[in-house]
Amino acid sequence: MASSPELLMDKAYIDGQWREGARTFAVTNPANGEELARVPDMGAEEAREAVAAAERAFPAWRKKTAKERANLLRRWFEEIMAHQEDLARLMTLEQGKPLAESRGEVGYGASFVEFYAEEAKRVAGETLPGHGVDKRILVFREPIGVVAAITPWNFPLAMITRKCAPALAVGCSVVVKPAEATPLTALALAKLAEDAGLPAGVLNVITASRGAEVGEVLSTDPRVRKISFTGSTAVGKKLLAQCAGTVKKASMELGGNAPFIVFDDADLDAAVEGALASKYRNSGQTCVCTNRFLVQDGIHDTFLEKLAARVKELKVGSGLEEGVVQGPLINQAAVEKVQTHIDDALEKGGRLVCGGRPHDLGGTFFEPTVIAEVNDTMRVAREETFGPLAPVFRFTTDEEAIALANATEFGLAAYFYARDYRRIWHVSEGLEYGMVAVNEGILSTELAPFGGVKESGLGREGSRHGLEEFTELKYVCIGGL
Ligand code: ADP
Repeated sequence: MASSPELLMDKAYIDGQWREGARTFAVTNPANGEELARVPDMGAEEAREAVAAAERAFPAWRKKTAKERANLLRRWFEEIMAHQEDLARLMTLEQGKPLAESRGEVGYGASFVEFYAEEAKRVAGETLPGHGVDKRILVFREPIGVVAAITPWNFPLAMITRKCAPALAVGCSVVVKPAEATPLTALALAKLAEDAGLPAGVLNVITASRGAEVGEVLSTDPRVRKISFTGSTAVGKKLLAQCAGTVKKASMELGGNAPFIVFDDADLDAAVEGALASKYRNSGQTCVCTNRFLVQDGIHDTFLEKLAARVKELKVGSGLEEGVVQGPLINQAAVEKVQTHIDDALEKGGRLVCGGRPHDLGGTFFEPTVIAEVNDTMRVAREETFGPLAPVFRFTTDEEAIALANATEFGLAAYFYARDYRRIWHVSEGLEYGMVAVNEGILSTELAPFGGVKESGLGREGSRHGLEEFTELKYVCIGGL
């Protein structure tokens, strides 16, 4: 259990009240199936209540000076950092990721609160030349209104702060619906926001096992002015369609199919390190995780050998255990998907290099896997595996690599390793992706705009661009001067 029980909240948070539910659902530890807590199983009615609370809280929150909001956010950041270890433990318990990764996520998640506390004071409008001698043009940048944030289980803390911190900074109020697998981290964050002094109704967290029911309210209620969603492309599309009815603004961080290209001139040892970080972080369960390795002929065999040697060393086990770098997958469906992709690749001529099946530990633990001789007829070429499988394709020319990399409806993150500076420019420009990492295996930071093109999403999170997503421009024309 969490070492600090005061952070283990088993009630939802609406209008500054900790609320029980008529029904509850269990939150379990994916490492051993044990029940950690039961939380309220809320539905459409509570979702509407939370929206009403956020709507009531909005006028006073937006009227506060930017500095007042900044100070409250700064206090929230300090509360999160003061409880870093407890939050990390809680996250590992409900999500499964190794403790070191959970600690990293707390720091990463908190960085958005820190950054947007600072940015809150720099949300500026503009004055423009008028279109007549007696006219002046003013552009106000205003908070959009009530925001709904629907978040996934793979980053139980950071996906919430990445949405809430910029929304709160500009003066919006928020209703969060965390993933059913990981509501405890979300509730702990709400507790820390309450302790930091955030006024009632400004931040609400509703827990629900039926995401679709709450999602429908949040995407159709006219009082909600903006949806910010991170999750699967299928659910994202459904939400976008539902948003159309009220012409709601939407930011969508959806699935990816990240290529990781290794060119002949790459530093292979660095490429292997980057490969491990980008593929096996969170046991492959992130939307920016490498889904396909594309490796050039000349270094193909050497890279494969080096990669497999390191993958075989990855220690699988409970995230709380020292030295473990691969926790369990989130649930049995995730295990089945990885296995299906492996079986399909092997049936179509892929060669198993290591791993390939559920781990002897049982449960949802899975062996880190590498498959070679992969081609574009296999499911791994098109679908996101979201698990610890590294499929390795072979290519000859740069043009072929770029074409292969872009042959997907997704466009979130892409990675490549090369040294030639012309190649670095041309490949960076040729990749149809929202984010490109060159000679790096990890690119998430609060300082940069995170987001995808094509069916990977709409909008950006992080940096000042992430703040603008929660604002509207108002043009005021002053005439008769
Ligand atoms: P994942 O594959 O990461 O679980 P989902 O898209 O299923 O991705 O889940 C992401 C978030 O979307 C979760 O909070 C989940 O409860 C919510 N969700 C799932 N189905 C719907 C839906 N039909 N409408 C709104 N939200 C949904």
